[in-house]
Amino acid sequence: MSMSDCLFCKIVAGEIPATVVHETPRTIAFRDISPQAPVHVLVIPRDHHADLATLTDADPALAGEVFATAAAVARQEGLTDDGYRVIVNSGPHGGQEVFHLHAHVLGGRALGPMLS
Ligand code: IMP
Repeated sequence: MSMSDCLFCKIVAGEIPATVVHETPRTIAFRDISPQAPVHVLVIPRDHHADLATLTDADPALAGEVFATAAAVARQEGLTDDGYRVIVNSGPHGGQEVFHLHAHVLGGRALGPMLS
């Protein structure tokens, strides 16, 4: 997939609307269109990296910034007392559907066992 075809690159560019909840110079966080919990936010690097390995190979500091933004979103959304979950799906068996690295921040209810 080229970057011009990437859904999340289009959100970064403002070409597709999104409910942005947090921004940093190199990351952006917006609400998932199909929330799986009362809070479901996606955190992405503004630059296109297809998946976790691609990002960590190219720019490990940016991977750290994605997780720092996830923690900031959790704090901002009031999730820190009860807790929350951060998930990065990678590849087909990991359930990744959008190939622009993203961390899911989920919270607002007890999430139960993770694996299915
Ligand atoms: P994945 O399965 O880890 O790749 O997660 C992709 C996520 O992107 C899913 O939770 C989708 O609901 C979400 N998603 C797909 N399109 C949009 C959109 O246009 N805006 C916000 N979230 C989206």
